[in-house]
Amino acid sequence: MARIVLLGAPGAGKGTQAALLKEKYALPHISTGDIFRANIREGTPLGIKVKAIIDRGELVPDELTVALVKDRLAQPDCKKGYILDGFPRTIAQAEALEGFSAPELAIDIDVDHEAVVRRIAGRRMCKCGETYHTSTHASAECAKCGAKLYQRDDDKEDVVRERLRVYEAQTKPLIDFYASRGVLHTVDGNGGVESTFALVSEVIDGHNKVR
Ligand code: AMP
Repeated sequence: MARIVLLGAPGAGKGTQAALLKEKYALPHISTGDIFRANIREGTPLGIKVKAIIDRGELVPDELTVALVKDRLAQPDCKKGYILDGFPRTIAQAEALEGFSAPELAIDIDVDHEAVVRRIAGRRMCKCGETYHTSTHASAECAKCGAKLYQRDDDKEDVVRERLRVYEAQTKPLIDFYASRGVLHTVDGNGGVESTFALVSEVIDGHNKVR
């Protein structure tokens, strides 16, 4: 199908779109943030190493992150393609990725930064993987499994502002990087989940048609 990278500021909705795309196109959804958080929850050596970095809103070192993704993309389920969410986040990561699995599509979900702060500060997570927003889900419990929802430490407003600063400095240059490789598509992510999903799907369908 396709090797897809989702770009966009933290809170642009990459995780939500990736989950929908995974269903529609039967591609594995690989989120480096989710992998790190699972390791932190389970108290693995990797989790212990990255927790403080993530809680500050900074980036995990490239070497560690690249090795993790390289391993994951070597799994058989990635043969037909994948959706990368939250990776690459630096030019060094993008260059490394070109070396083992060059993306065919880089889809940038473009959103207004103040909307991002509102979106992230209201985000609530469940350990089962569901994500909610306080504006549409007032309950403190998960509608799917009933567990108590929680806020990620790095979703607190001051950390969100730091993550946006890191995004501007380190990740935004990837837009030019992928544009120069001819694989960049930008979609408007301000219109809500459904309309963003329609735009992202259009890009993927267009790509699959000409393959
Ligand atoms: P996310 O869930 O994608 O917002 O990621 C949460 C946090 O995990 C980020 O703020 C970083 O600290 C770390 N992280 C996730 N992906 C990467 C990456 N590709 N490179 C470095 N750090 C990452």
